Amino acid sequence: MKGVSILGATGSIGRSALAVLDQHPDRFRAVALTAGTRGEALGRLAERYGPALAVVAEGPVPAGACGGTEWRTGREALLAAATHPDADVVLNALVGAAGLEPTLAALRAGKRVALANKESLVCAGPLVMEAAREGGGELVPVDSEHSAILQCLAGTSADAVRRLVLTASGGPFREWTAAMLATATPADALRHPTWDMGSKVTIDSATLANKALEVIEAHFLFGIPYERIEAVVHPQSIIHSMVEMVDGSVLAQMGFPTMELPVLYALSYPERLPYECRRFDPVAAGALTFEPVDGERFPAFGLGVAAGREGGTAPAVFNAANEVAVAHFLGGALGFPGIAEAVGDTLGQWRGGAADSLAAVLEADAWARRTTETFVRNYLPCC
Ligand code: NAD
Ligand code: MG
Repeated sequence: MKGVSILGATGSIGRSALAVLDQHPDRFRAVALTAGTRGEALGRLAERYGPALAVVAEGPVPAGACGGTEWRTGREALLAAATHPDADVVLNALVGAAGLEPTLAALRAGKRVALANKESLVCAGPLVMEAAREGGGELVPVDSEHSAILQCLAGTSADAVRRLVLTASGGPFREWTAAMLATATPADALRHPTWDMGSKVTIDSATLANKALEVIEAHFLFGIPYERIEAVVHPQSIIHSMVEMVDGSVLAQMGFPTMELPVLYALSYPERLPYECRRFDPVAAGALTFEPVDGERFPAFGLGVAAGREGGTAPAVFNAANEVAVAHFLGGALGFPGIAEAVGDTLGQWRGGAADSLAAVLEADAWARRTTETFVRNYLPCC
């Protein structure tokens, strides 16, 4: 029986994780559950799953919360959930750079971190990998592409790999022209064709910033240089990614798109457990197609990959600028093309720096947020 701490239990990945626990009550039990602000929703989950600890990171404890669960609030309490003594696995399903410190704390405490929060690795890849080495913790990806790559690699060493090919659905705007993109609304962008996800990652999928974040995530997770990581659009989201070996053999991992499977694999790895979910039928699936990523219509992809190649704190700046720009797009202050414009403007002003301490990363993050806010305040759409 493994104890699981779920950071972000009320979100989309959090719900997938609880569905996994429902099918394996004899293998996994929730020891800590956290929410950002939705205390009432967390209260219902605490009643059902009976964790030892429930944390509302940025809001009050719901009225009437009791039972055998200890209730706490605030960032320190979130770190307590990330390092809970009864947790064997910490599923980090927080959104944004807010996930970084819990990832570091869990790895330093020697936990397995099932990582959905890709932003942790993007902001501070070298620090995260060092925390795992020093604390004896282990990082297992939940992002479907990285779970696919882990499954294809099956222990193959990095020198036997020629390249990683991450697949991208292309998002809701795959067939939109640049003129149409200028009029895209948040409601249009939130209508993802193949995945049902939280709003931040759904907008990142529409701009393809998500694929850039994932290229950086893959670089740190698998130790593969950027020139050997590529992305390709695959609208059916059946092939979750591919690995080409040095001998030219290409391995792909496939399946019906559901995040429950990569969550299950991150919890059970390297073991496989039975699971009931919609099965993949190759005949019903029909043709699997591929297209290049269009960097002209989706400039956020190139900006993110360039920030990854630059290294140091540039990826943290890319991430923070993107978080602020996405929030303003959802709030109506920026048009869709304004997201990449804001991110590009902020990255263009960044003078660089090493990501050699948490303080340096947090300073770059804070600078990028302020700079992007200023861009948005002065923003006039170009058309
Ligand atoms: P979501 O918005 O649905 O859920 C986020 C969770 O984190 C919620 O429980 C929320 O209350 C909590 N939270 C948000 N901000 C917080 C803060 N500042 N402090 C503490 N708690 C906070 O997001 P999601 O779609 O589940 O995505 C979570 C992570 O997983 C993201 O990094 C995303 O990129 C990644 N991911 C998601 C999917 C998916 O299918 N949803 C797929 C791959 C990767
Ligand atoms: Mg993904």
